[in-house]
Amino acid sequence: MKSSYLEDNIYIQLKRYSKYRTYQLTTILSVIIICLTIMSSCKSTYQCDGECGNTDVLNDLESELGTVVTFENIEDRKEYLQASGEELIVDVIVWDLVSVIEPTTVSEDRINQMFNNINAAYAPVGIKFRMLKSNVYTDYFTFEDLAEDNYEKYYFEIIQNNSENIIDLYLVDHEKGLCFIDGNTRGCQKGKGFTSTGGWTSSIVIAKDDITDMKIPTHEFGHFFNLEHTFKGYDEKVNQTNCDGIGDYICDTPADPGDGYGAMVNYTDCEMYGVFDEDGIAYKPMINNYMGYFSACYMKPYAFTQGQIDRMKAFIYDEKRIGYLKMMDEL
Ligand SMILES: [Zn+2]
Repeated sequence: MKSSYLEDNIYIQLKRYSKYRTYQLTTILSVIIICLTIMSSCKSTYQCDGECGNTDVLNDLESELGTVVTFENIEDRKEYLQASGEELIVDVIVWDLVSVIEPTTVSEDRINQMFNNINAAYAPVGIKFRMLKSNVYTDYFTFEDLAEDNYEKYYFEIIQNNSENIIDLYLVDHEKGLCFIDGNTRGCQKGKGFTSTGGWTSSIVIAKDDITDMKIPTHEFGHFFNLEHTFKGYDEKVNQTNCDGIGDYICDTPADPGDGYGAMVNYTDCEMYGVFDEDGIAYKPMINNYMGYFSACYMKPYAFTQGQIDRMKAFIYDEKRIGYLKMMDEL
């Protein structure tokens, strides 16, 4: 694999590209319907879903994309890795997308801080992220460029650079002028990152502004390792009668009414007050969960639940991810 790594990778990505072209036509109608549904329930496209609004769309596409499993027997590899008892390494290549006209590169300190934050969060999963290299990438796209038209440029201009079984972390700038004043309404439409949930592509995109945020990079890596939003579907009941079949499919993340309810949270208590589900039971979402959309609590650091950790621990051995796992001395 190593000797023809680049060639294989280009082939795989091109294969994906051509498959995507085919699916593009056949899925465009459903994509539009899904997007309209999502957008109708959001305050704005980016505010609600800059990181994630299209995960359903991306997942639908990526479920049809190619297979990149480099081990003939996944079970043997899993057994070998588990028997080692070692902390497992996942390599990451950082791509800093830099404008030639107004070059601003991300400092090494900020990148290191991001890795420190992510590694602390993923220690319970038993994996550690290792930066293989950091590249400046001058084919310049902003976050908004990549997100436009259902992430078309992300699919057609970015993933061709992706690596096999290594996370490609793309750090991007924002456009200027994301805030608006419209009569008495004013606000800002700013996404923070995106990737697909448990998808095939190796890429994660994060806005440079947010790489040192205590939540955002860990949140996006959570999607990469198959975690959904705690509010997914907005239809989980507080009494847990439907918690394993809908929502984020994890029962120890309490029902979460979603991103529109931040005003109902006391961020010192880290509690929501006065929001009820259809049975009249008060929502008590985990405000400090990495996979929610709430702001940071003053007294409680962000955390994953054991159910989320278990879901990721299982997914790292899935055919989509097992190739990423290495022992320290494996390159
Ligand atoms: Zn998300």
